[in-house]
Amino acid sequence: MIPSEKINEISQANDIVDVIASYVAVKKRGKSFLALCPFHPDKNPSMTISPEKQVYHCFSCKAGGNVISFVMDYEKISFIEAVEKLAERAGIKIERSRGNAPREDISKLYEINKTAAQYFHNNLANISGGEKEFINSYIAKRGIKKNSLTKFGLGYA
Ligand code: ZN
Repeated sequence: MIPSEKINEISQANDIVDVIASYVAVKKRGKSFLALCPFHPDKNPSMTISPEKQVYHCFSCKAGGNVISFVMDYEKISFIEAVEKLAERAGIKIERSRGNAPREDISKLYEINKTAAQYFHNNLANISGGEKEFINSYIAKRGIKKNSLTKFGLGYA
């Protein structure tokens, strides 16, 4: 999920005239720009682009929308893909949700968990006296076999 403020920021950072001009030839006509419409076989430029409103409209085939919908329709990609493409174009970073944590973060978390597990597993081996007796009787009561303690890296906190 990309927050709507982020989508607004990305739209504002990509001028619609510049973006469309990177795909098709664009000519200035008064306050607007004209282009051959890429969404229908167009001989006379029937697409107008308004830099003021940041929208485009084709008088022939009625195609129209904003900078994101232009990229979606032209490239035949999804909304998210178009937003990502425009973010990259403008040098804007999109924060990834937790579900897409970068690989380094995942392996870091894995290391932390492994270190903690080792610490508690060592505790189990190093306890002595009454504590050891208590733990051993608890393990026996739970029916946990000795080799399971190492196999599953069980620990004592
Ligand atoms: Zn058209």
